[in-house]
Amino acid sequence: MPFVLPRLPYAANALEPYISRATIDFHYGKHHQAYVNNLNNLVPSTRFENASLEQIVMEAEGPVFNNGAQVWNHTFYFNGFSPSGRREPSGKLAEMIDRKYGSFGNFKAEFTKSATSIFGSGWAWFVIGKDGEPGILQESNAGNPLRSGNIPLLTFDVWEHAYYLDYQNNRAGYLQNLWNIIDWDAIGERFK
Ligand code: MN
Repeated sequence: MPFVLPRLPYAANALEPYISRATIDFHYGKHHQAYVNNLNNLVPSTRFENASLEQIVMEAEGPVFNNGAQVWNHTFYFNGFSPSGRREPSGKLAEMIDRKYGSFGNFKAEFTKSATSIFGSGWAWFVIGKDGEPGILQESNAGNPLRSGNIPLLTFDVWEHAYYLDYQNNRAGYLQNLWNIIDWDAIGERFK
């Protein structure tokens, strides 16, 4: 079964002005699609021919891992946004963030700072670690925290293709604006 590009849960212009339609057209329509196409071209005649995407993320190396993890990471990233929705966490997740980071505002500042300081291409992740504690991780390139036993809740893509059309070199400005479109109902579902 070939892998397919999942549909976005919103229209291509729905995240404007924070992420433009042009960025969605390239980032989702071209880059995300290319990772799907590459993966489909790579897996035949490997032991991952009939593997799930999760198995590829957990076990593969080299180009199969790189393209498989980029498919997973982008789907997770795009599904974390909505044009409307809860803009801050609630319930047990909110309590956990307050306990660990002091406040939601402090959490956002720490997460944004961590994402801003990733050198080169990669992903910032908010996770629940093996010890059950929330944490912020930096991953390079296609890195995915499932491989080290974490439960991912939220990710920010810091590859330049994620922001260059809208923000040019201003990665920090892009990251700051993402908080306006994060859907904490969707993030909360991942916590359950
Ligand atoms: Mn990307």
